[in-house]
Amino acid sequence: MIQGGCFCGKIRYQIEPGNYTAANCHCSMCRRVHAAPYVSWLVVPREQFSYQQGVTKTLQSSETGARYFCAECGTHIACDNEKHPKIIDITIGSLDNPTPFSPTIEVFTDARLDWVTHLD
Ligand SMILES: [Zn+2]
Ligand SMILES: [Zn+2]
Repeated sequence: MIQGGCFCGKIRYQIEPGNYTAANCHCSMCRRVHAAPYVSWLVVPREQFSYQQGVTKTLQSSETGARYFCAECGTHIACDNEKHPKIIDITIGSLDNPTPFSPTIEVFTDARLDWVTHLD
């Protein structure tokens, strides 16, 4: 199993092994919510993902999008969108071992900061 969790350890989750898309999102919502220049996401079918421990707090960040984070330590775990109900995006930075999940695509590049290095 692929495992991860938040900084304080209250939230733990697992993902069934698979060949998942890893993407860097440069949208302004990810930037502000994570206070980071961009966010790397693992795109996972919802049924492959499960929480093992803890309950996340929900931030409704747009009309159809929601973000899930640890209320204790603030680590963002997941993001989903009603428009894509079968998918949940998981923060690669919250994985216990992010190394194998190298992003191959970039999204919302129109909002990418000038000083952020491109993938290619
Ligand atoms: Zn936490
Ligand atoms: Zn985004």
